[in-house]
Amino acid sequence: MKVLVIGGGGREHAIVWALAKSPRVSEIVCAPGNAGISQTRLQKSGQPVRCVPVDTVDLAAMLRLVLEERPELTVVGSELPLSLGLVDKLMHLGFRVFGPTQAAAQLETSKSFAKKFMQSHNVPTAAHAICTSLEEVRQELPHFSLPIVVKADGLAAGKGVVICETHLQAEQTAAQMFSGTLLGSAETYVVLEQFLLGEELSFFALCDGKHAVALAAAQDHKRVGEGDTGPNTGGMGAYTGDGLLSATMEQWLLKNVAQRVVDEMALEGSPFHGILFCGMMMVPKNDGTTLPMVLEFNTRFGDPETQAIFMRLQNEIVDLFDAAIDGSANELDIQMRPGASVCVIAASQGYPGKYPSGLPISGLDSVLDPDTVVFHSGTATSDGAIVTAGGRVLGVTSVSGNNTSTSTSALQTALNKAYGALNGISFQGMHFRRDIGWRALRDGL
Ligand code: AMP
Repeated sequence: MKVLVIGGGGREHAIVWALAKSPRVSEIVCAPGNAGISQTRLQKSGQPVRCVPVDTVDLAAMLRLVLEERPELTVVGSELPLSLGLVDKLMHLGFRVFGPTQAAAQLETSKSFAKKFMQSHNVPTAAHAICTSLEEVRQELPHFSLPIVVKADGLAAGKGVVICETHLQAEQTAAQMFSGTLLGSAETYVVLEQFLLGEELSFFALCDGKHAVALAAAQDHKRVGEGDTGPNTGGMGAYTGDGLLSATMEQWLLKNVAQRVVDEMALEGSPFHGILFCGMMMVPKNDGTTLPMVLEFNTRFGDPETQAIFMRLQNEIVDLFDAAIDGSANELDIQMRPGASVCVIAASQGYPGKYPSGLPISGLDSVLDPDTVVFHSGTATSDGAIVTAGGRVLGVTSVSGNNTSTSTSALQTALNKAYGALNGISFQGMHFRRDIGWRALRDGL
């Protein structure tokens, strides 16, 4: 089977790596890919993955590419092509494609759509108001206690959520979102939301239009600084572990969130196929129980959670993609290697602000541990050498565990492996967090 993967970050490297292990896959093309992806070889044939340039904001260019390459399966990695309707166009042309349609992807691409949807269908989420003018914002603000979360409606690459400590700050933030000065484009809707306190959890469900099945849970670290401090990033690391989610809570999330979304989207005429990434806040209640609330939906794999999850996934990845397309996800038996896994991001100096590019990376060949993979996020090849080409550069990912280890000890071993590998890798200004998984180590998994 010939497979095309759209994207060029760490998530796409992990998807390509998983595809390359499959005996069913005979050719992989990745657009645009990166230096690490182009070094990946198919396990069966030894054939390298072919990277081809494409701009993932250019719908016409992506369609031309698919018509030229004629893949038997296309996997869309990131949200932008979904928001442009790439899946709809490819389905219309008769291609098999993994990912939701433009209408179904609104769960991610429009916060106001997602909020209205959750409210109509009793999906637990924070109290909110959807505003179309600053006047409405002023009217709604007194109904919220501090702090207030102000959210831009559209995709904003992690920059569209501001936690405001005063009503004035909330009003000013909303004004900047409406005028376009905050994000570069003017928002039609701004969502005000009640601030929730708790632990965040990412829950991934594989959906096939009718069924939602649990894939994995992960926790990521969004802030740049240790102890979860400093500005937000695309994600500085993530981990997964057997104990992160109890079987009871997994069932609760499936029933009250993921399956409800799938059922209601189907009833609304937009069946959801693909990955539903539920960004949850696990809010502790006075009686000692936990109330899970949805902060946001994403409609694709997370980055860097995917790198950590795929290191533990034991199913053939193509079977998951096929089941999501064909409506047979309920027949899958999803198996994860027991234990834990972790991905630590090595970032460029200055990230998440301005950063240099084109710096040579050394030590990539020094990683020999079979349980560690260095996924490339922002890399390129220059004069035969691998150089930095992004804010997040590498995702050093390790897995550990078996039926006898506890998940906390497996997490500690995975962390030792990842940080050990990072010791041998360097580029000028490289920085990474040394405390990935700190909560799980403190409280136990
Ligand atoms: P979102 O894009 O909606 O997931 O928001 C990005 C981040 O902002 C989340 O991962 C949370 O850390 C934070 N956040 C969003 N909504 C809330 C909320 N209602 N209460 C507390 N934190 C929030």
